[in-house]
Amino acid sequence: TLGKDWAIAWIDGCIEMASEHRVELIELDRAIGDGDHGENLDRGFSAVKTKLADAQPSNAGDVLKLVATTLMSTVGGASGPLLGTAFLRASKEVTAENLGPRDIVAMLEAGLAGIQARGKADEGEKTMVDAWAPAVRAAEKAASDGLAPQAVLRAAADAAQAGAVATGPLKATKGRASYLGERSIGHRDPGATSSAYFLEAAAQAAE
Ligand code: ADP
Ligand code: MG
Ligand code: MG
Repeated sequence: TLGKDWAIAWIDGCIEMASEHRVELIELDRAIGDGDHGENLDRGFSAVKTKLADAQPSNAGDVLKLVATTLMSTVGGASGPLLGTAFLRASKEVTAENLGPRDIVAMLEAGLAGIQARGKADEGEKTMVDAWAPAVRAAEKAASDGLAPQAVLRAAADAAQAGAVATGPLKATKGRASYLGERSIGHRDPGATSSAYFLEAAAQAAE
């Protein structure tokens, strides 16, 4: 079953992902931004690691809320407030002890809604929305097909990864990469790439 322990395992996975992919995310951001994305996330999730060690969360929502407030206060740049808002909105949907497929869908929908409320980007603008939006659609379909929450998370993670890859040929029209205009074409978006890693961590934690 998915609950608090899953959320802790998920966030441990995010901490590892941020550290493991730090250089790759820096290089992606160097191509179309200012080169700090990997550093921003690694700093943020290192702080999460410290805070989580002392926390006494009573459910998955508490875990995600701690992530939200920590990312908001430690990650500079666009991605901190965006991911912080995503985790904060998502936290409100996963307070049940035993999470079902609908809870997972609601969590992902809330995360995407938070990113869009904060950043005003639509799909196709070469941002993290391009990982989250297909993830939400895949999760909704998996849940309506009657799949288990673990399979819903797997479908979301795979769709996020495909979405991140598909940002390569897009022209950025939001965020720092939009300053490059046509020159942003041909590079994968760093934020979509990191979001795909974080959703992959969610799926792996459930397996
Ligand atoms: P900064 O651009 O301030 O240096 P980061 O490098 O940490 O911040 O994050 C950059 C990522 O943030 C981009 O790759 C993109 O995915 C995401 N991003 C930027 N602006 C927006 C937005 N308005 N909506 C959604 N995501 C955005
Ligand atoms: Mg940057
Ligand atoms: Mg920056």
